[in-house]
Amino acid sequence: LQEIQALPKVELHAHLNGSLRKETLIEFLAEDGKNEGFDKDLTMDEAFRLFSVVHSVVTRPDRVERITREMLEDFEKENTVYLEIRTSPKATQFMTKLEYLNSIIKAIREFQGKMVTKVLISVNRAQSVEAAWENIELAKNYPECVGVEFSGNPNIAKFRDFLEVFNHARDIGMKVSIHTAEIPDNEDTLDIIRFRPDRLGHCCYLETEAENLIIENRIPIEICPSSNMATMGLTSMIDHHFGRFYTRSHPIAICTDDTLLLNTTLSKEYYLVAETFHLTIDDLKRIIRESALMSFFDWHTSYFTQNPL
Ligand code: 5GP
Repeated sequence: LQEIQALPKVELHAHLNGSLRKETLIEFLAEDGKNEGFDKDLTMDEAFRLFSVVHSVVTRPDRVERITREMLEDFEKENTVYLEIRTSPKATQFMTKLEYLNSIIKAIREFQGKMVTKVLISVNRAQSVEAAWENIELAKNYPECVGVEFSGNPNIAKFRDFLEVFNHARDIGMKVSIHTAEIPDNEDTLDIIRFRPDRLGHCCYLETEAENLIIENRIPIEICPSSNMATMGLTSMIDHHFGRFYTRSHPIAICTDDTLLLNTTLSKEYYLVAETFHLTIDDLKRIIRESALMSFFDWHTSYFTQNPL
């Protein structure tokens, strides 16, 4: 694990409100006089309920700024050299969506570390198409926002409902990543693949046709090992689709998804994959180099020339 920790790494799939420190959440809950317990083994619906607990306290600009700063510190500690944070802008009693985003950007700009950080604006399936349009408009305000992504409870709404929004995002030069096949829904999965996103997230329940299309079109996949195992109820990583894609030399990034929910770190996720599939440090370096090419901001060209892996 130490060797993995020392490797410069790339994180492409990390949700802001899923990546805050547990102590910080407990502190916020106490400050607000809220008493919420949370369990380790969460079903998908329970996990989404935990997000609402987090959202119920991350309601002020200072707290948004704090959780962003702490997330940056935590990822830099893992020797992450490039980080994409994804989040859906939120308006509360105490802040507008713009203030929410301003707080994130402020924390990123003031961060003293060496890590390059960019933002993907999330479109939440559970929210309206109007909210999605609003979010895309907001993304235009910041050079840090390099892309948009589609997430939220997959049991609610279809990608097709938001197609126009993503077509527009692409037209204005935004890169697009889509959470795909988190539940068995081949129709939705095929709609997503036909759109040809720049990246796909998860890809847990793929039928053969969909899997072949992804491979033929070389659409890169963000794999979140612990999160995917939880989604699919796997007891061993050996049954995870990583193996199928890796052996076919498909572009893959290893990511955390939600460090709070999964009690994980980026190094732990690499370790889990390396242990299961008997990967060497050189194999991991190859994965890191490949995943750097999947990033939505061109930082790797100069980075790896100066710091060869
Ligand atoms: P936020 O956008 O509030 O910063 O991050 C938390 C949100 O990310 C959740 O409310 C949820 O919409 C989304 N999210 C986090 N993890 C997952 C996941 O594994 N699957 C899906 N579909 N959405 C997720």
